[in-house]
Amino acid sequence: MSRKKVSNSQVRGIARKRMEVLVRMSEREALAGNMDRAKRYMTLARRISIRNKTPMPDRALYCRSCSVPLIPGLNCRVRLRDRRISVHCLECDTIKRRPYLREIKERRACHRGQ
Ligand SMILES: [Zn+2]
Repeated sequence: MSRKKVSNSQVRGIARKRMEVLVRMSEREALAGNMDRAKRYMTLARRISIRNKTPMPDRALYCRSCSVPLIPGLNCRVRLRDRRISVHCLECDTIKRRPYLREIKERRACHRGQ
């Protein structure tokens, strides 16, 4: 017996759909206050992402160290400082920083155009 061949792009499509479902469920549980369940769903989504080499859905904002879905105003603090966006996870006190240079450049280009 041989296994049915499934192409890589098909696998990614299935993985993406399942990840989206898990991310949505995770956010819903976080809003309902079930943080453990929210973490579990996000962990499962991240596992699918690693196993199938598929990036996480774009809108999924999660903590890299504790896998909790980050919802501003509920369990994370978002600040702009030194040209970086910092997202502070209030569950495990991790701070994730990312520069927003692209946005600055875009705004400059905008001003020049006027
Ligand atoms: Zn965290």
